Amino acid sequence: MPVLPVRLFGDPVLTTPAGQVTTFDAELRRLVRNLDETLYDQRGSGLAAPQVGVGLRVFVFHDEDVAGHLVNPVLDFPGTEEQDGPEGCLSIPGLYFDTKRRLNVVAKGFTASGDPVQVVGTGELARCLQHETDHLDGVLFIDRLDRARRKAAMRAIRAADWTTLAPPTVKLSPHPMTHGYH
Ligand SMILES: [Zn+2]
Repeated sequence: MPVLPVRLFGDPVLTTPAGQVTTFDAELRRLVRNLDETLYDQRGSGLAAPQVGVGLRVFVFHDEDVAGHLVNPVLDFPGTEEQDGPEGCLSIPGLYFDTKRRLNVVAKGFTASGDPVQVVGTGELARCLQHETDHLDGVLFIDRLDRARRKAAMRAIRAADWTTLAPPTVKLSPHPMTHGYH
């Protein structure tokens, strides 16, 4: 099974809301297997389909002793308790920023075979389920940071060796080169 390339911050697929899955077929199950394989290869705790360029509401997760996937997930928050701690993303590699999240979450969705499933998470697993569901809405964890933290995060991203972002003062022409054949 192939390990898929993970899209990095700056790729428009990461800020585009993903579509509902309507067909639970072999292709969907293959997508879940490939996401699993890629997550395992990258040693991450979660991976959403948009991160491999697929605009569908699917993610896989891998916590200390729970692993699984969810299709068309919807989150419920039992209680209002929050947690604040380091969070990272395979699409923003090597960088971690303290991010506030709800402490407890219940994620309801479907398996790739179309069976209803529910995942109850607290702590790190709850953080992961919120992070991955955000990906399906085109939201990145740095969007959840307060102003000061987000500013610091953007500075770190611009300075990262993998970044594809141009420095903010440089404007790139949206038009392709149309010179003749000289
Ligand atoms: Zn992520």
